[in-house]
Amino acid sequence: MASGTPAAMEQRIMHACGHEQVHVIYGFDAQVARKARWLRTTQCRACFIADKQVEQARMTAEHETAIAHLDLPELIGSDRQISWATTIRASRLAALTHDPVTTADADSASCLHITDAKWWIDHRSLPPEGFLAKAREAGTGGGTSQVAHIPIDIA
Ligand SMILES: [Zn+2]
Repeated sequence: MASGTPAAMEQRIMHACGHEQVHVIYGFDAQVARKARWLRTTQCRACFIADKQVEQARMTAEHETAIAHLDLPELIGSDRQISWATTIRASRLAALTHDPVTTADADSASCLHITDAKWWIDHRSLPPEGFLAKAREAGTGGGTSQVAHIPIDIA
């Protein structure tokens, strides 16, 4: 039987990174103590976010290296859309070029010509097959010529 009543407790936690942060922990005394103990082994929120940003930047650099051989067109949109879509496009293309199936598929090239930043953002969470289908649609949508076959390596 747990003693006392569950309550919201404000606790100052000294995190593993050396920063103090106030947490509101809800529960019985023993649960609060356990949660507080666990929190002390973690990073504070600021360090957690900073670490994530470093990791994101590292991933983006890795993706950009993986697709450095591609001659990519400039994206079109607002500054914020372009910056976000550039990261999305790099990660998407890096994944596609790493996949032996999609790399051999000329369809992966049809997305290279899509310059609408919003399009990249809108389709960021599609799985590879769904994404390639959308890219094919976008590449052939109402055009006079087939845009499906674009060489990936432009010397
Ligand atoms: Zn910290």
